[in-house]
Amino acid sequence: MAEPKTSNTKREVAEYLAGLHKAAVTTHTGADGDAIGSAVALVYLLRALGVEAVFSYAEEIPSYLRWLLTDEPFKECPPNHDLLVVDTSRPDRVGVAHERVHPVRLNLDHHEDNPLYGEKNLVDSEAAASAQIVASLYTELGLSLEREPAEAIYTGISTDTGGFRFRNVSPAAHELVADLLRAGVVPAEIDDRLNRTGTVEQLKIVGTSLANAERHGEALIATVDKEDYARTGATELDSKESIDRLRTVAGVEVVAHLREIEGGTKGSLRSERVDVGEIARTFGGGGHRLAAGYTTSKPPREAKEELLGALRRVVDLQDGYGGGV
Ligand code: AMP
Ligand code: MN
Ligand code: MN
Repeated sequence: MAEPKTSNTKREVAEYLAGLHKAAVTTHTGADGDAIGSAVALVYLLRALGVEAVFSYAEEIPSYLRWLLTDEPFKECPPNHDLLVVDTSRPDRVGVAHERVHPVRLNLDHHEDNPLYGEKNLVDSEAAASAQIVASLYTELGLSLEREPAEAIYTGISTDTGGFRFRNVSPAAHELVADLLRAGVVPAEIDDRLNRTGTVEQLKIVGTSLANAERHGEALIATVDKEDYARTGATELDSKESIDRLRTVAGVEVVAHLREIEGGTKGSLRSERVDVGEIARTFGGGGHRLAAGYTTSKPPREAKEELLGALRRVVDLQDGYGGGV
């Protein structure tokens, strides 16, 4: 039987990175602030080491994160580049085509369900964000943090902790943030770039999501579909941020946002106590214990019934409230 895989040490990974010539960094599909922040910070780190480094990503970059990019992303991993993947819990969620031509040389991540799929793995589920792990490599390599990578790292940590509110924040994360501020990061400026770039269409689809929310005992589920996008002029991604507003309802243990996508529904789950990662995995998804996601081929209405079926095992749905049977 094969030895259970373990994560590499920071030293091993630092030495590996220092020995590279050409590298392409990528991250997970459906990129968030930590995905782009940690990827961009790693590109800066590699360039500081003299490595020819590029960011490679096939999907559109969400507009609120575009300011982080140094160059237009390569839609494919360029030939002769070693592929490094950040913030991605599974190889099938990598944001560029890879497989045989581009094996994953390094898997750097903070998801607890990461199966260590890289040739080298630096996975630390105690880290608040993958960007925090990239920052630790700067320290390991004795590289000083310039303002631009510090802003990328700050973006990763502040977005993955919901603005330093979630249970993944730690003294280490705050200590790092102090160093980032010393490197020139101005939190108010980053907040402006991340959170004040919205459109009225986004506002309307978030409002629609909230208006569509239905409570089933300890679960609160919001759905949005194509008609909602058409009526508000928004896209499915625009609706995503409503998940955090759903968390404000007292007595709710699990919140879910189910948005229609091409060919089905994308589900986002959040909780303060219930292992929603486990629930997402039963639908072929994954993520963290308290923040997870999945996609299903069912339309939102049916996806909701399917989800209620799974939630019934872990929370009190106070059946009869109008939920599933
Ligand atoms: P989201 O709800 O899309 O913000 O995702 C929350 C967390 O779950 C993130 O850490 C994602 O990486 C993870 N996640 C989302 N969708 C999936 C999926 N289809 N498969 C595995 N993990 C996912
Ligand atoms: Mn992420
Ligand atoms: Mn992350």
